[in-house]
Amino acid sequence: MKVMKFGGTSVGKPERMHSIAELITKESEPAIVVLSALSGTTNALVEISKNLAENERNVAKQNIDKLEQHYETFIEGLLKTPEANKKAHLAIGEHFEFLNIILKISFSEALNKDILAQGELMSTKLFSAYLDEAGIGHALLPALDFMQIDAHEEPQIGNIKVKLSQLVAQHKDKKIFITQGYICRNSKGEVDNLKRGGSDYSASLIAGAINASVCEIWTDISGMHNNDPRVVKKTVAIDQLSFDEAAELAYFGAKILHPASIWPAQHYNIPVRLLNTMEPEAKGTLITEEAGSVGVKAVAAKDGIVAIKIKSSRMLLAYGFLRKIFEVFEKYRTSIDMITTSEVAVSLTIDSKDNLEDILQELEPFGTVEVDENQTIVSIVGNEIVQTPEVMKLLFDSISNIPVRMVSYGGSKHNISLLIPGEFKTLTLQVLNKGLFGL
Ligand code: ASP
Ligand code: MG
Repeated sequence: MKVMKFGGTSVGKPERMHSIAELITKESEPAIVVLSALSGTTNALVEISKNLAENERNVAKQNIDKLEQHYETFIEGLLKTPEANKKAHLAIGEHFEFLNIILKISFSEALNKDILAQGELMSTKLFSAYLDEAGIGHALLPALDFMQIDAHEEPQIGNIKVKLSQLVAQHKDKKIFITQGYICRNSKGEVDNLKRGGSDYSASLIAGAINASVCEIWTDISGMHNNDPRVVKKTVAIDQLSFDEAAELAYFGAKILHPASIWPAQHYNIPVRLLNTMEPEAKGTLITEEAGSVGVKAVAAKDGIVAIKIKSSRMLLAYGFLRKIFEVFEKYRTSIDMITTSEVAVSLTIDSKDNLEDILQELEPFGTVEVDENQTIVSIVGNEIVQTPEVMKLLFDSISNIPVRMVSYGGSKHNISLLIPGEFKTLTLQVLNKGLFGL
């Protein structure tokens, strides 16, 4: 059994849904097909939720109506027969009825999660309606019946395994199973989600749970590229990555894959393939335990980084200083990405400003605190690059004109990270593209 996950753009147009139906019916192996919401839907739902939280009910209503219109048009393009059309309108209608009821009741965090879940619930229903119309046998497995997280938002893999195999076993005659990415139940049994972009994570968890032969992530680009195609002109797809390399790239900004989606695949040793729905023959990127080759594979950038420097002479020859500093970040559940130290100062970065004020206040007693916002982490990722002197030379030659604020080297064998002011991101990615890849 394999897992095939299709992202928002792969289901975002009726003709795209038609082509993914073609793709999955070509498969000889049974498949669990994980779908995202139609592109733009989750953003629209976030907006509606925000309107409601701010008590802007009129604006929320307008946004709900706009979204409904989009689905009405979508159905017209998706289905041919009047019966199928009618069924789909009714099915989608229920979700808009729900959103319209929510308009009238008071907003809560639990409701917010319910609103956000509507996208995947609708995309899977529409796809299932299309498969029905085309006479393609399949079963719809509700993710809310098996995907579960605990009180720390960690997936309960044991439970997922048991429940999912029970569900699959109920449909012995079927080869195609459709389910929702992103959505799950939390420890209280409420509807919840795996965070934005979380459908990849769903796919990988499902792949681990059923011991899939492969976890295919279908998007609109042919695999992971060596650099950000939105920033530099020429990029190439990477043939092969190790799980470690892929995790570093996903975490440090490569948008194609949700960072958390690597560990389940790695833990259960399931190969992951990144493929392109628009170009299904393209090889894409294979991610396994093997790196394939040595050397630099890719660079990625993560924006919106805050750098914090704590300078104190008390740090000199002292022990326990770093622990006290880290405790402040732990208290505010804020993870630290990069860190460098000297004898009298420590610089570190965080990627969220959520608790910045509180954190800074608590750091004050430890020394002079300096903050730089709008920084970018540029990561250079590749198998064993840290042990390759030529890479170092090429890297530092390329960035000689970039005002690098921090360097992280040796934390892992596969990653060298630079912190630069955000406005230098484009230039940095360009010079690295030339210097490291000759592109
Ligand atoms: N629909 C969700 C989002 O847009 C989950 C996903 O697509 O992966 O974040
Ligand atoms: Mg995605």
